Amino acid sequence: MNPCKSVRAAVYGLLVLIVHSVVVISADFSYDDPDRWAETDPACAGSRQSPIDIVPSTTVAASDDEQSLKLHGFYRKPVSIRVENNGHTAQYTFVWSKDSHRPTVTGGPLHRDLYAFEQFHFHWGAEDDRGSEHTFDGQALALEVHFVFFNREYGTFEKAVEQPDGLTVLGALYNVRGDKAKGDAKWARPLPKIRDAGSATTVEGKDVFSLSEVAGGEWERYYSYPGSLTTPPCAESVTWIVRNGSIPVAPKDLRALRNLLDSNGEPLVDNFRPVQPLNDRTVTRYGF
Ligand SMILES: [Zn+2]
Repeated sequence: MNPCKSVRAAVYGLLVLIVHSVVVISADFSYDDPDRWAETDPACAGSRQSPIDIVPSTTVAASDDEQSLKLHGFYRKPVSIRVENNGHTAQYTFVWSKDSHRPTVTGGPLHRDLYAFEQFHFHWGAEDDRGSEHTFDGQALALEVHFVFFNREYGTFEKAVEQPDGLTVLGALYNVRGDKAKGDAKWARPLPKIRDAGSATTVEGKDVFSLSEVAGGEWERYYSYPGSLTTPPCAESVTWIVRNGSIPVAPKDLRALRNLLDSNGEPLVDNFRPVQPLNDRTVTRYGF
């Protein structure tokens, strides 16, 4: 390596280190005091924040000529899945043999823009009466999943997060099934291996699953509004797509999430941000 290149490599290394540190500091937040997030991340006090309370009777129907949401690759299984307890949630990152295999979403409120799947994670409560971030008519459910996608126009998630149309998150709420429900969803199986904050595991072979196995069913009826990430830095870059209604989760699978620990060794529960003011935004409903 010539000296010029090695200096460049060193500078690049330092930059990566700085950027990484900033991300880590930014990720160091607590659900005990979400009102204070804006002290370190000013965007958290912005005017298009998420989540929100969705009041169906005040939503506006999308016009008939709006095209429907088009999901691709939701039944495709990745090569492997990295599952991480980052102290705030269980996060699942899919590994693909080719970038073109990533699931995508377009249409509906996204118009012609194509968004590529990045990761999914959950928000849940200590008890069944809370846990979801979005609420319907003020009513929370026990669990919510977020499928995070970035606008392919911007190349990477990191670049897209800075753009007002950079991300879309598909959210679905779960209701708790009867106690006799068996559970053992594939997404819940790796959770005992990542009990401690900072731990991770890789799902391979027959245990690998597709997005449809996490929140299967149709995405024809949903609400959409312009919002933000629900954790610091609260970037206002998200077109939210929240599925109408709810899907079932078995108590056993929900318990597997509640058994995770945060960075203080306490149960990782109630990792949801309270609903934020709607301000002058409109919530549009699609498909109904
Ligand atoms: Zn989330």
